[in-house]
Amino acid sequence: MSDEAETPSASIEAAKSGRAKCRRCRQTIAKGELRLGEQVDNPYGEGAATLWYHLACGTIKRPAAFLNAEKYFLEDIPERAQLLALAAAGERVPCLTQLAGIEAAPSGRARCQQCRELIEKADLRLIRHNEADLMAVPTSSYIHLTCAKDYARAAEGGDAPTALDDLRTHLEHHLSRLEAELRGDAEASVARLFTAAES
Ligand SMILES: [Zn+2]
Ligand SMILES: [Zn+2]
Repeated sequence: MSDEAETPSASIEAAKSGRAKCRRCRQTIAKGELRLGEQVDNPYGEGAATLWYHLACGTIKRPAAFLNAEKYFLEDIPERAQLLALAAAGERVPCLTQLAGIEAAPSGRARCQQCRELIEKADLRLIRHNEADLMAVPTSSYIHLTCAKDYARAAEGGDAPTALDDLRTHLEHHLSRLEAELRGDAEASVARLFTAAES
């Protein structure tokens, strides 16, 4: 019996230095902080390269890698249950893994990727990272926060019975990252989204 197939291509560890940058948010990962490392084929040469993520960032962007690594990490993980829920949701509805956050539009120039209308200045919008290549710096596109359900439903996995719960799990995480004032507005908007009558 070979256990090769079960060897995780990802692992969780406390960062040994404070030098690595997170592949999702591009911020430094502090020494000692838990991080997710995913081994990938080195696109620039021989062998493997490791891509590092803050644990929450990796859970969102690379849910399969997180789920694989989590099984082998027997030590404590803060908010483990929430991270597992985020990862499971991202596995079922992959378009959620591209959501990078919620913001108020700084200008009125971007078009919503879902309804194609312009997003007015100060309207709440989802930031979506577009990337075909894990090594590249992603470009961003935007979706009205009010179009979030349409976005999830139109995508692969969007017809899963859990799709709207999965969307909500991800939106709650992004809400938790916002500053107080914006957060209040965004929480109210998300609440309306999920209490609105289905059309
Ligand atoms: Zn990060
Ligand atoms: Zn829209």
